[in-house]
Amino acid sequence: MSRGHAPAPGRTAAGATGTRLTGVAMPGRPGHFDLVAEDDRIVSLTPSTESRGGVVTPLFTDVHVHLDKTYTISRIGGAGQARVESLFDAIALMEQDRPRWTAADIRARANRALENAYRLGVGAMRTHVDWIAPEVPEAWPVLVALREEWKGRVELQIAALVRGDLVPSAAGDIAARVRQDGGVLGAFFYRDEGLAEKVETMFALARQHDLDLDFHVDEGLDPEANGFELIVAATARHGYRDRVLCGHACSLAVRTAEELDRILAAAAEAGVALVALPTSNLYLQDRGEGVSPRRRGIAPIKEARRAGIATMLGSDNVGDAFYPYGDYDPLSILRLAATACQIAPEDWIDSITSLPGRLCSGNLSGLLAEGGPADFIWHAAEDLGELISRPRAERIVYRGGRPLPANHFDWRNA
Ligand SMILES: [Zn+2]
Repeated sequence: MSRGHAPAPGRTAAGATGTRLTGVAMPGRPGHFDLVAEDDRIVSLTPSTESRGGVVTPLFTDVHVHLDKTYTISRIGGAGQARVESLFDAIALMEQDRPRWTAADIRARANRALENAYRLGVGAMRTHVDWIAPEVPEAWPVLVALREEWKGRVELQIAALVRGDLVPSAAGDIAARVRQDGGVLGAFFYRDEGLAEKVETMFALARQHDLDLDFHVDEGLDPEANGFELIVAATARHGYRDRVLCGHACSLAVRTAEELDRILAAAAEAGVALVALPTSNLYLQDRGEGVSPRRRGIAPIKEARRAGIATMLGSDNVGDAFYPYGDYDPLSILRLAATACQIAPEDWIDSITSLPGRLCSGNLSGLLAEGGPADFIWHAAEDLGELISRPRAERIVYRGGRPLPANHFDWRNA
């Protein structure tokens, strides 16, 4: 059965250098379309009488990754054999590897990740950078430089991930540096002592330096973990709508339905966004030696979205102690979430395209339109359901109206 032919470039009107895709499905829009791109623009996007021309999606945006930690698993604890029974084991293992994080090492690993993401159709990404001492971490200037080098291919945002206990003493200087380098301010909070004051400090600094905020918060299943609520309250108090993203919020999964309703309504009202990270949560939450997980640890994203929260999905860790697998492919995260979170991919494609796109790059609203940039992905599938079902469906990434020259990235040379 034909599932859409790989389109060839240059099949438009005579003389034009461009691409014509006929009868393509576009998730979120009923019907099929003919799409014509010339030079770097979509010049025509019209309803089609044909169908089965494949699926076209916008570029993907990955709103939560860790390029400083990535691709370290092969050297951690003897070729990935180290025992990880919880988030805190993973943190300890990463600390063992950290002395190897020279600028050259970080650059090579992060560059490989960006290359992978780019080939898979990622157009924008937000990476966290561990900030575990008052000094600027080795990875920070490396990623600032990579952000410039990758401009136009992957728009990279860089978020400082400040260890919670550093916030009272060091966050002031860190915020100034983040401001200087055009980054995002963030912290890791899990049941910290004096958490309310720490959250307040982060918001005061964000306002002082006009910075967006991004938190790793409540990455665990202790019902006492209530950092998310504190951040929501601070967002409302400081009028910081649409500038705050919370990652994880796993402990929302162990709240009563009433508590959850109340917290999510407040978050929607305040304008806090949420990103769930299914791979690392499924891998680490409720984990114990010799026992199977019962509580799966992913934030209740259906309820969050229903409450009116901008709710997204991200890759989080790839190839490190927190998650030893992964490939920087947001579509694989949506595929996983379709089962793990019981969501309909058709309704959630925006969680890896337009919603994070707006947050990470003004240019990536994710809506393909006539006159807009000819940056999109063609997939060999009849519809999104088939695409979810067939991980090996061919994918052609178009950037500036042209297919990327080699989709067969040679991982051995990475
Ligand atoms: Zn993370």
